[in-house]
Amino acid sequence: MSFTTLGLSAHLLETLSAKGYSEPTPIQAQVIPLVLRGRDILGAAQTGTGKTAAFALPIIQKLNASSESGQASARALIIVPTRELASQVAEAIRSYAEGLELNCIALYGGANMARQAKELSEGVDIIVATPGRLIELNKQGHVPLSRIEYLVFDEADTIFDMGFIREVGQIIDLLPLNRQNMLFSATMTGAVKQLSEKILKKPLLVEI
Ligand code: AMP
Repeated sequence: MSFTTLGLSAHLLETLSAKGYSEPTPIQAQVIPLVLRGRDILGAAQTGTGKTAAFALPIIQKLNASSESGQASARALIIVPTRELASQVAEAIRSYAEGLELNCIALYGGANMARQAKELSEGVDIIVATPGRLIELNKQGHVPLSRIEYLVFDEADTIFDMGFIREVGQIIDLLPLNRQNMLFSATMTGAVKQLSEKILKKPLLVEI
């Protein structure tokens, strides 16, 4: 199996080869072509399976293909449970988007809010955020979410374990209806199933 058959651009293939990724992991082989085709995904996957690249690469490719980069308003939103995961996922996305004009920002609690607001005002394409801080910044008018086209919940079970159920509902209510959705979770708890039924349209189930 090689990355070349998945539908990724020559630029992204070069980036992956430069990173030393010689072949896709099973979740990448399944998810990348489906996301490129516009499908919603329900992914039952643990960390360490390569799921970050599985959702990030096709989103980066699609954003870049219809590039209006440096917008004041983001087009992709990735919700994660913890600040560590937020900075880790944002870092991974920046490395996959190297050489492309796409800005990725990590927003999480405990970090300076004024600085995050300033970064947002300078233009952003992809936001990786924990639920609480995202809501706070949105209430203050710093994160318009009306142009989000791609939504990802990463480690959805942990997001609920951490008590973010109300925030998750609030965030969904702020998003435009017409968008592509992906939900990844190590376990399919009741709350995760409910969320998937609420946000996913004809999802394809990918299990690793
Ligand atoms: P993740 O499950 O997304 O946290 O990824 C786990 C680790 O695997 C990260 O350090 C990635 O950089 C690495 N990784 C992801 N995809 C590949 C791949 N296709 N080949 C080699 N390493 C990879």
